[in-house]
Amino acid sequence: MSAYLLNRLAVQPNVTILVNTRVVAVDGDEHLQEITLDQAGTATRLPATHLFVCIGGAPNTEWAETTDVRLDTRGFLLTGVDLSPDDLDRWPLKRAPYYLETSVPGVFAAGDVRANSVKRVASAVGEGATAVTLIHRYLAEVTPL
Ligand SMILES: Cc1cc2nc3c(=O)[nH]c(=O)nc-3n(C[C@H](O)[C@H](O)[C@H](O)COP(=O)(O)OP(=O)(O)OC[C@H]3O[C@@H](n4cnc5c(N)ncnc54)[C@H](O)[C@@H]3O)c2cc1C
Repeated sequence: MSAYLLNRLAVQPNVTILVNTRVVAVDGDEHLQEITLDQAGTATRLPATHLFVCIGGAPNTEWAETTDVRLDTRGFLLTGVDLSPDDLDRWPLKRAPYYLETSVPGVFAAGDVRANSVKRVASAVGEGATAVTLIHRYLAEVTPL
């Protein structure tokens, strides 16, 4: 989470931050009524009607591990200038990969799944639009006149 958001939460009078705490049970009949917290082995039951789960961002890229599409150490897809010479050991073309092109010609990545992307909505949308243009350029290369 961004530091400015954490700072705002820390001074919010109606927000309590519990560190080293796990939600270990949720209970209710028709809807959520109670959660159970575990704090260093001590269980505490609290009334609750809503629970927001924020689990962070993990790229769903296991499929790429059995392909020539190269990933960074955290599983994000490498593209363009982020591809090292080693990553491009099977790159078959004379030209370098385009900005959003992976280590496989014609395979593009845009948005959060791309290594070193900005991880914001506006940039993801912009990269998606840019990828379309690059795909057209790629198709013009491989499509016979
Ligand atoms: C809690 C939170 C708060 C945020 N707040 C902001 C904010 O205030 N401002 C901001 O600009 N950004 C914010 N972001 C970031 C923003 O949500 C992302 O940058 C943006 O959604 C990225 O868009 P995307 O299309 O790349 O990925 P996503 O929005 O993650 O879309 C990827 C889609 O692909 C689907 N998918 C995954 N694997 C497969 C598969 N194998 N086959 C088919 N589909 C698949 C997923 O289900 C998902 O629908 C926030 C993110 C989080 C988690």
